[in-house]
Amino acid sequence: MISTRLTELLHIRIPVVQGGMQWVGKPPLVSAVSNAGGLGILTALTQPSPDALRTAIRETRAATNKPFGVNITLLPAINPPDYEGYARAAVEEGVRIFETAGSNPGKLVSFFKAHGCIVIHKCTTIRHAKSAEMLGVDVLSIDGFECAGHPGEEDIGGLVLLARAAQELKTPYIASGGFADGRGLAAAIALGAAGINMGTRFMCTVESPIHHDVKNKIVTSTEQDTVHIFRTLHNTARVFKNSVSKQVVELERRPGGAQFADLRDLVSGARGKVVYDIGDPEYGIWSAGISMGLIKDIPTCEILLSRIESEAEEIIEGMRKQVNLKAKL
Ligand code: NAD
Repeated sequence: MISTRLTELLHIRIPVVQGGMQWVGKPPLVSAVSNAGGLGILTALTQPSPDALRTAIRETRAATNKPFGVNITLLPAINPPDYEGYARAAVEEGVRIFETAGSNPGKLVSFFKAHGCIVIHKCTTIRHAKSAEMLGVDVLSIDGFECAGHPGEEDIGGLVLLARAAQELKTPYIASGGFADGRGLAAAIALGAAGINMGTRFMCTVESPIHHDVKNKIVTSTEQDTVHIFRTLHNTARVFKNSVSKQVVELERRPGGAQFADLRDLVSGARGKVVYDIGDPEYGIWSAGISMGLIKDIPTCEILLSRIESEAEEIIEGMRKQVNLKAKL
């Protein structure tokens, strides 16, 4: 058993969080992760309205009596969402764990803290992590350059970013970006983290609500199959490398660059959602991290989390034995 500040704070068995994922963080996956001993997180903006989020929260609660959370991500969006409405609905439904991500979470964090909630804030720089500490968040989710979705604009990989977090932060932090197995969990703990956050790995589980063909595509892909779009718009996103994302990058690279309006039809989340619905990985943009290179199967969440736990324990034990042996020599 790996007990950390995260497992104690959230009352979970395994220090593994399933982070927010647009179109993926729905009740079947969230409840399966929580039932398996991790923390499942519903993605608020995947629901079309705050009322639909209420329904999703009730569905999740019917499927698990374990803790779960709600993610609210603040990033540029084609139709700016009613963030406060989603936050209010979730608090009124009794949710007490939130994951915030993106820019300027101050108002949301104050609202959640005023209602006695635990807030995990995801960020990609130590500077932002320190600002979030000042806002009073309970846990930081430190997202390295390896991650799927939005890695920020500073391109610092997890190895240095997490070691910097160990130097600078007082608040417990979890390691995010590139984590998919027990080796990753053991490494994260060595880097001072209280657990890990996984996205892409959870997309590729039995309970993940996306088409089987997309899960198979993740299994057969490697760490070389992602690309960054929106670099020139300063809203960088790591997504699966397909004909659509390559076209976006080409448009951004042409002389004079591209405006968001030139890209909107190619990149819209509504089009990306179709990928997951019909199982065509070429249909639109979908997020994927370089952890794809580590993913070789489609297990249940229960099997995945038990495996991660035992692998990590074995590796930590192995390291301890190696150190003891060296000390004796
Ligand atoms: P969307 O259809 O509104 O936008 C598609 C993509 O274009 C997103 O990456 C978005 O950030 C980007 N974008 C939109 N307007 C932009 C602009 N003016 N300039 C630069 N980039 C712009 O996105 P969606 O799929 O409907 O998702 C809704 C929101 O949720 C977006 O803000 C998205 O970034 C965010 N999101 C959340 C998660 C999560 O884990 N919760 C994951 C992915 C995306």
